Amino acid sequence: MMQIQRPLNQIGFVYREIRQGLADIEAMFALLDQDPEIEDRPDAAPLAITGPVLRFEDVRFHYDSNRPILKGVSFEVPAGKTIAVVGPSGAGKSTISRLIYRFYDTIEGKITIDGQDLRDVTQKSLRAAIGMVPQDTVLFNDTIAYNIRYGRPDATDEDVRAAAQMAQIGDFIESLPQGYDTQVGERGLKLSGGEKQRVAIARTILKAPPILILDEATSALDTQTEQEIQTALDTVSKGRTTLVIAHRLSTVVNADEIIVLRDGQIAERGRHGDLIALDGLYAQMWNRQREAAEASERLAAAQNDP
Ligand code: ATP
Repeated sequence: MMQIQRPLNQIGFVYREIRQGLADIEAMFALLDQDPEIEDRPDAAPLAITGPVLRFEDVRFHYDSNRPILKGVSFEVPAGKTIAVVGPSGAGKSTISRLIYRFYDTIEGKITIDGQDLRDVTQKSLRAAIGMVPQDTVLFNDTIAYNIRYGRPDATDEDVRAAAQMAQIGDFIESLPQGYDTQVGERGLKLSGGEKQRVAIARTILKAPPILILDEATSALDTQTEQEIQTALDTVSKGRTTLVIAHRLSTVVNADEIIVLRDGQIAERGRHGDLIALDGLYAQMWNRQREAAEASERLAAAQNDP
C-alpha cells in the first residue's frame, strides 16, 4: 500500500502545482480528462451559450476557512465586452479566473454564464467555451505548429499560419531555419515569456472560444514586445466576452469597465478616465506605473547616449 501511496501523492502534488499556476491547463485536462476534485452533478447539462454574459453574484471564496479571499464580489461582463480586474498583489485577481474555469466552486454566491450556474453545467462544455491565455504557458516538446494547432486539432496549415500572424508571432516563426517545424519546449528552442504568450494567443485564436480569460504575465516586457502582445490580445478579444486579469495598467485603458479589487472586495469600478478622476487607488497605481516606466525610459536613453 505504501509503495503506491507515494507516487500517488506526487501526482497529487504536481496536479496542485499546475492547477495553482494555471499553466497549460488544457494539456492538463487532456491528460486527466477531468478535475477529480470538482465533479459534475448527475443531472449536469451542457452549457448553452447565447450571449454570452458572465456574471459574478456576491461571490465569496476562501482556500482556508479562516482567511477569506473574495468577500462578496459582484460584476458582469456583458456579451462581447472587455472587463479588466486590477489590484494589488494578493487581492484575489487570479482566484477569480480559477473560479470561472471551475478549479474550485464558490463558497457562497454564484457565477453564471447566460443565467446558468457553473455548478449545473458539465465541466467539459464549460471548458470548451472558455479560452484561457495563462500567465505562464508551458509548451509541449514538439513543433511550433503542433503547439499552435493544439487549439483546434483539425486546423489546416494555412489556419495555423493565419493564427500565428494575427498573434504577432508569424514573422518570428518564419525567420527560424525550420519555420513551423522547429522543435520547442525543454528539449528544443527555448522561447521567451513574450513569445510563449503569443503562441498561447495563436492557439486561442484557433480555438475561437466565445469567452476569453487573459491572465496577464506579471513579468516586465520591453515596450516593443508589450505593444505586439497588446495588438495580439486586441485581435483575439474583439467581439468576445473577455475578462482580463491585468498587472500592467497600460493594457486596461480601453476596457469597457475596470474593477479595482482590494483585499477581496471591489474598491473602485469604472472606465479609465473615471477612475483617474476619482483619484483613489487606481489613480495611485497608474501614477506609480507611469513613473516607473518613465524612469526606465530615461535609464535606457542615458545608456544609449552616454
Ligand atoms: P498577484 O497579482 O500577485 O498574482 P492575485 O491578486 O492574483 O495576486 P491570488 O492569486 O488570487 O492573488 O491570491 C489571493 C490570495 O490567496 C493570496 O494571498 C494567496 O496567497 C492566496 N492563495 C492563492 N492560492 C491559494 C491556495 N491554493 N491555498 C491557500 N491560499 C492561496
